[in-house]
Amino acid sequence: MKNLFKVLLLVVAFATVSFISSEKETITVVIDAGHGGHDFGGKHDYLLEKDLANSISKKIEALNSDKNIKLLFTRDDDKFVELAERTNFINSIKPDLVLSLHVNQNKNITASGFEIFVSDKSVAYEKSNELAQKLVLDFEKNIPLKNRGVKTAPFWILKNSEAPALTLEMGFLSNTTDREYITSEEGQNQIAQTILNFVSNLK
Ligand SMILES: [Zn+2]
Repeated sequence: MKNLFKVLLLVVAFATVSFISSEKETITVVIDAGHGGHDFGGKHDYLLEKDLANSISKKIEALNSDKNIKLLFTRDDDKFVELAERTNFINSIKPDLVLSLHVNQNKNITASGFEIFVSDKSVAYEKSNELAQKLVLDFEKNIPLKNRGVKTAPFWILKNSEAPALTLEMGFLSNTTDREYITSEEGQNQIAQTILNFVSNLK
């Protein structure tokens, strides 16, 4: 009887430890696909920034099989959502991280590469900057485009999110090399996988 009690105690202890550790490992990330609806964002012929952002957002969701990574989205498919509505949603959740997905455009068609923005006006600036510095290196390792580095900008989502928040400009629609990559199935999968691996390493 005494032994049975010990075994039961052990089982309860193990279950408690594994419950606590699995709770700790859960990470919540808001994926904010830029633009949507009547707001196209950047445009090159029939290619629209809003569609690329949505497509990569969907790939991140599809690639995620880890139940400890909780992904939430500021928009479903091609819907217009006000910036204030997005940050209200974000601040009601208080996620571990916000990733705002965008694609760049420039009159100078030689401008190319990916870059990450953070806001020094954010309450979570330090953490945002630390995460951006890490993510930009992951991009450099996995994405065959130029690394333009981490920059600061007073973007609405970055400034008003009460959580670490990064804006990823994943390449230039106006640059041929970038455009071919960010519109390709392989390129989009590589970007989505790089983001997901980064999130997974935050646990
Ligand atoms: Zn944009």
